[in-house]
Amino acid sequence: MKIVVAAFSHETNSFSPVPTTLDRFGVGSGPYFGPAARAASEKIGMPIAAFIRLAEAAGATVVTPVAARCSPSAPVDAAAYETICGAILDAVREGCDAVLLDLHGAMIAEQADDGEGELLGRIRALRPGLPIGVALDFHTNLTAAMVDNATVAVGYRTYPHLDMYETGERAGRLFLDALAGRVRPVMAWGNAPMLPHTLKQDTNDEPMRGLMVLAAAAENEPGILAVTMFAGFPLADTAGAGLSVLVVADGDRARAEAVRDRLLAAAWAVREGLVYRGRPLADSVAEAARLADGPGRGPVLLIDHADNCNSGGTLDSMSVVAEAIRQGLDDVAVAPVCDPDAVAALLAAGVGATVTIDIGGKMACPTLAEQPAPLRLTGTVGAVSDGLLTVTGPVFTGTLVNMGPSVRFDAGGVSLVVTSRRIEPYDLGVFQSLGIEPAERRFLILKSRIQYKPTFVPIARGVVECDGVGVASSDYSLFRFQRLRRPIYPIDDGVEFSPPG
Ligand SMILES: [Zn+2]
Repeated sequence: MKIVVAAFSHETNSFSPVPTTLDRFGVGSGPYFGPAARAASEKIGMPIAAFIRLAEAAGATVVTPVAARCSPSAPVDAAAYETICGAILDAVREGCDAVLLDLHGAMIAEQADDGEGELLGRIRALRPGLPIGVALDFHTNLTAAMVDNATVAVGYRTYPHLDMYETGERAGRLFLDALAGRVRPVMAWGNAPMLPHTLKQDTNDEPMRGLMVLAAAAENEPGILAVTMFAGFPLADTAGAGLSVLVVADGDRARAEAVRDRLLAAAWAVREGLVYRGRPLADSVAEAARLADGPGRGPVLLIDHADNCNSGGTLDSMSVVAEAIRQGLDDVAVAPVCDPDAVAALLAAGVGATVTIDIGGKMACPTLAEQPAPLRLTGTVGAVSDGLLTVTGPVFTGTLVNMGPSVRFDAGGVSLVVTSRRIEPYDLGVFQSLGIEPAERRFLILKSRIQYKPTFVPIARGVVECDGVGVASSDYSLFRFQRLRRPIYPIDDGVEFSPPG
C-alpha cells in the first residue's frame, strides 16, 4: 500500500497586505519537496508527523511530495498555489492507494476562495473515490467541497493550539481503520451564522471551553467516530467563514446529523460570549501600568493583538509601543517588530552604535482607514543574531523558527527585537536570542493574540489586551466584508438560526 502524505497550510487574512509568495512557505526558501519534506516533517509536533508514523506502522510505503507552511497573510499567490497543489497531484498521478493531508482549512488562493476544497476536489477529479484523510486547524472555515471530497476529516480541539500531533493521530487512526474496513465513515457538517472573535476563542475560557467538552463527549457516544467544532477564522472574507461542526459516524448518517445539530444549537446559544468588545488603547496601557505596581511577580503583558502576524498582521504597527512610550512605561521589551530596512541600517551601524531611526509602520494597509505610521526612536544597537531558533515549547515544539537577521535596539526604557521576517512570539527564544530575559522585564509588548499564553502567562504578573492599529484587529467594523455569508452574528442585527436537521 502506498500513501501520499503532504502538508499545505495557510490561514488567509483577506485584509492583509502581506504577500503570500512561494518563498514564504517553509523557513525562508520555499516549501520542502520530496525527501526534504519528510526530513522537515517527521519529528515535529504537527499532524503530518503522526501521519508518517501511523502509515508506516500500518505497513504502508509513504511518499511525501511537499510540506508547505506559511504564516497567515494575503491570499496565496496563484503560481505558489499551483506549484504546491501540483506537487501533490503529481504524486497522486504517479500512483497511490490513499492520501493523508495536513491542511489548515482557512486558505484562500488568488484563483480559489476555498483553497482546501479546491485542492481536494482536484485530487478527486483525478482519482474519483480515492480515500483521503485530512487534519484541519481549529480555525477552519468548513465548506461542502472540503467535506464532499474527503473520506474523513478531524480538527484541532485547542486554542492556543497544543494538540496538532494528537489531531494527526486521531485523523490518521480513523483513516487507517476505514482503509482496513474496520469502520465505514460517513460525515455530516453544518455551520451556524456566527463569526466568533478570535480573542474569545480560547478553549480554556468559557464559553469555548464548554463547547469543546460537549464535542469531546459526543465523540464517545456509540457509533460516533470523530467530532470537531471549528471556531473559524473571521478575517478570511469567504462564504464559509465562521463556526462549524463536523461529525464522522460509523455508517449512520442520521446519528451524525443529530450530533451536528445538537452542537450547532449549543454554540448558537452562547454566541454572545464569543463577541469581543474592545476599549481605547490609552485605557489598556494605563491599566498595564497599574498592574505593574500591583501584587505578583514578572512582567505585565501588553497584547498587541491587532498586529499578530499569525492572523495576517504586518508585524510592524507601532501604535501600542508609541502609546506605552507616551505614558512613560519603562523597562519594556517588545517582540518582534518586522522591519528589514531598519535591521539592515542597524546592522550596518554595528553593536554599540547610537542611531536615530524610523522603525515600523512601513507597510501600507489599504484595507484600513487608519494607516500604521513609523516611530522615530534614538537608541543603541544592543545585540544582533541570525534569527534562527528552535522552539522549546510548549507550542510548536521542535519547529525551526527563522526571524531572519535580527537586532536588539535599546531606546530609552524600551528594548525592541527588530526582525527581518514575521514570527509570532510564542517562544521565549524570540527575546533570549537577543539577550533579553523576558521574565525580568517590567512590561512585554507581544504581537500575539492567544498563542503566547502557554509560554508567557506562566512568567507574567498580568495580561492586558491592547486594541492597536492593524489588519488582525478583532474590531469587525474596521473591515469591509464582501463575500461573507449574510446575515451573520454579530455583524448583522436580528440574525436567527435553527440547526439544519
Ligand atoms: Zn489556528
